[in-house]
Amino acid sequence: MAIEYPKNRWAWVEVDLDAIRKNTRAFKALLEPGVKMMCAVKADAYGHGAVECAKTMAKAGADQFAVATVDEGVELRRGGVTEPILMLNESPLESLDTLLEYDIMPAVYDSEFALAYGERAVALGKVGKYHLAVDTGMTRIGVLPADAVEFRHMIDFHRGLECAGTFTHFATADVIGDWDFKQQARRFMDTVEALRQANLEVGLVHCDNTPGTILHPEFHNDMCRVGIGLYGLQPAESTAPRIKLTPAMSVRARVLRVTNPAVGEGVGYGLTYRVPKSSIQIATVPIGFADGLARSLSNNMDVIVNGTRARQVGRICMDQFMFAVDTGGARAYEQPTKPVEKGDVVTLIGRDGDEQITADEMAARRDTINYEVVCNFSERLDRIFV
Ligand SMILES: *Cc1c(COP(=O)(O)O)cnc(C)c1O
Repeated sequence: MAIEYPKNRWAWVEVDLDAIRKNTRAFKALLEPGVKMMCAVKADAYGHGAVECAKTMAKAGADQFAVATVDEGVELRRGGVTEPILMLNESPLESLDTLLEYDIMPAVYDSEFALAYGERAVALGKVGKYHLAVDTGMTRIGVLPADAVEFRHMIDFHRGLECAGTFTHFATADVIGDWDFKQQARRFMDTVEALRQANLEVGLVHCDNTPGTILHPEFHNDMCRVGIGLYGLQPAESTAPRIKLTPAMSVRARVLRVTNPAVGEGVGYGLTYRVPKSSIQIATVPIGFADGLARSLSNNMDVIVNGTRARQVGRICMDQFMFAVDTGGARAYEQPTKPVEKGDVVTLIGRDGDEQITADEMAARRDTINYEVVCNFSERLDRIFV
């Protein structure tokens, strides 16, 4: 493999921007003309590098971006992103000037926050745009449907505020035919209708996340908020047959050291693995749990080296882990493997030759979801855009 890697470290995250582009276009193609696409690039674009991904998505049809924190919004603006940015939350009152200065819209559901935001907007000679969050049943953030009209009357007198959108978030958008989903959707559409009846500006109406966008086109409304799918990962098994996506993230490293320990020697903290035979090589890789490789994967994950899978062995350390290669292939079911050498490329997630390890595989092994796996790879690993 011809691989680019950073100068200072033999471990990195590769991000395939062409995959991001394709996935963005695939979602855009699901939307009726005129329906906008808001791309969720929170958590550093789910670990893929927020500014690079946002710029790629913008060229491929993204209309707006969603972040989770003020600093994530500021990073996008400093990186040159000019599209509208929604922060899917409130932030401390101390951050209001930053929101206004960088033109980051907060989600609004608390009148004290909303009015303070309006005040700062007027003081700075700006208009504080926001999206109204409605809690239709997830019990996370938002005004309750029954309170929405009254809430808006409570804040709408303020000339510093402008409602640019109204949204809710589904708890079960990935479940086909789900009663709770239908109830949330109905509550949301009824709330939007009530706001309109009261002559209140609702702005862009949006509720579908990735699974909603794929499975529930009847609720695309004015905009969809797509996240995980943009990175080529399926939010659930239910969506996989409906859209073809290309995973964008690979996690790779180079072998730091190789040994042939004597039979019975142990590997790693606690010596949880013992070398069973003399044809075993133990190779060391400079990625550990401080890089987001969960320690719970210890003795429970594979890597790919020279196009072949090998077992990770011993406990994963903070900065390193080890894997075993059997160059002997003594029994029929054990293929002899090409000896590993210092500098060989090791793939933790991604493709090498005919082998592939997906974020879903890693997620299943550590009993979580692909979202967490990709978010966990920390900033300590450089993102290399290919
Ligand atoms: C993260 C998030 C999204 C995107 O979710 P995906 O499942 O990744 O598509 C959409 N809306 C809200 C409110 C979110 O928090």
